[in-house]
Amino acid sequence: MIAGHYATALVPEQAPTAPKLLFFLTASQLPDLVWFALTFLGLEPVHTHAGPAHLELIVTHDLLPTLPWLAVAAIAGRAFFGEWRSGWIAAALVAVHNAADLLSGYPHFVAGPDTQPLGFGLYYSAPHGAVAIEAAFAAAVLTWVVNRERQHGLTRSGMTWAGRALIFGVGIATSFATAPSLGDLPPNGTLPVSMAAGLLLLYSTQIAVLTWTESRPAVAAQVARTAAGVS
Ligand SMILES: [Zn+2]
Repeated sequence: MIAGHYATALVPEQAPTAPKLLFFLTASQLPDLVWFALTFLGLEPVHTHAGPAHLELIVTHDLLPTLPWLAVAAIAGRAFFGEWRSGWIAAALVAVHNAADLLSGYPHFVAGPDTQPLGFGLYYSAPHGAVAIEAAFAAAVLTWVVNRERQHGLTRSGMTWAGRALIFGVGIATSFATAPSLGDLPPNGTLPVSMAAGLLLLYSTQIAVLTWTESRPAVAAQVARTAAGVS
């Protein structure tokens, strides 16, 4: 799952400030961002078995190693915003990321390949199905977000909708078109550094775009109400 994770970052607050939105979006992708960063240091290699390579993201995606990342996210929220609420939200976003990956992504383990495997592993067995699940997941979350906006009379700007169409529409359609490559891993024991750099650039761009478009002012009933109150 890639784009689907971003949808979860839109849930905690209806109209977050741009810095908070940037923080929530980063938290929603923290396991992947750390994975790409660790690839440069050779600390999160693609562990190979006899037969096809399997992606075992032990440090960032296995169950027990996820726990310290929850703490990192919580402490970062407290440090950046001076309150624990943002930290708990960030920790929850990290947990939801790894849970969603088990639903639609690579299989992971409790703590390393000698422990209990977790997840459906659909990136290997049914990559198009995995992306279809991601599309359904993102659609469900976004429907909830949009319904909340409607209930509060919040009408989003064209720029916000353009960002949603780009990241969720084009993003998931692209994943669907390239789905077979998701399970087609390099056999040499690590994600190529060039691929990690490319993915880091892609994710950073997506986070920047959504931070910009989601924090555009809403053309809202609130605005009309404020104007009516003034006049
Ligand atoms: Zn992930």
